[in-house]
Amino acid sequence: MKQLLQMKHLKIITPLIFTTLLSACGNKVQSINTDMNRTENLIFAKGKKIENDNFTGTAWLNNLVDADSTNQNAVGSVTFEPGARTKWHSHPAGQIILALDGVGYYQEKGKEKVIVRKGEVVKCPINVPHWHGASADTAFVQIAITGREKGETVWLEPVSDAEYHGGQKER
Ligand code: MN
Repeated sequence: MKQLLQMKHLKIITPLIFTTLLSACGNKVQSINTDMNRTENLIFAKGKKIENDNFTGTAWLNNLVDADSTNQNAVGSVTFEPGARTKWHSHPAGQIILALDGVGYYQEKGKEKVIVRKGEVVKCPINVPHWHGASADTAFVQIAITGREKGETVWLEPVSDAEYHGGQKER
């Protein structure tokens, strides 16, 4: 009788376990799809695929504002696919990064890599080498506001895989 009861329980519990597992998998797939398609829901279009070698992996640029004599900031929306990042570089007049979506990384030379999430803001100091990009498994969308009054971005060496996957901390 006891065994029969256990069997009965199994019959009830087994489908429950499968349903839970299936819905867990479903959520996972959905969140990955959302990550890949999330730019469709954003205000700014993804723009054009970046073809220059200042980036590793696949990234997209929508150049929103060119700097001019009235306003010396360039503004661009950059979408990094998972794993994509800039080379090490520095800005002669600094930069502000607005995280619009996803999960990204930001690292200044000599410091630990920092995780940057949707809604956060990063200030890149003047002439400090750094890089930014997507996290390893989630895309990242940023608006970069870059001062141009002291010249163009100075591009340095690529971010190695070891650097990219190195230690990290929350902000
Ligand atoms: Mn930068």
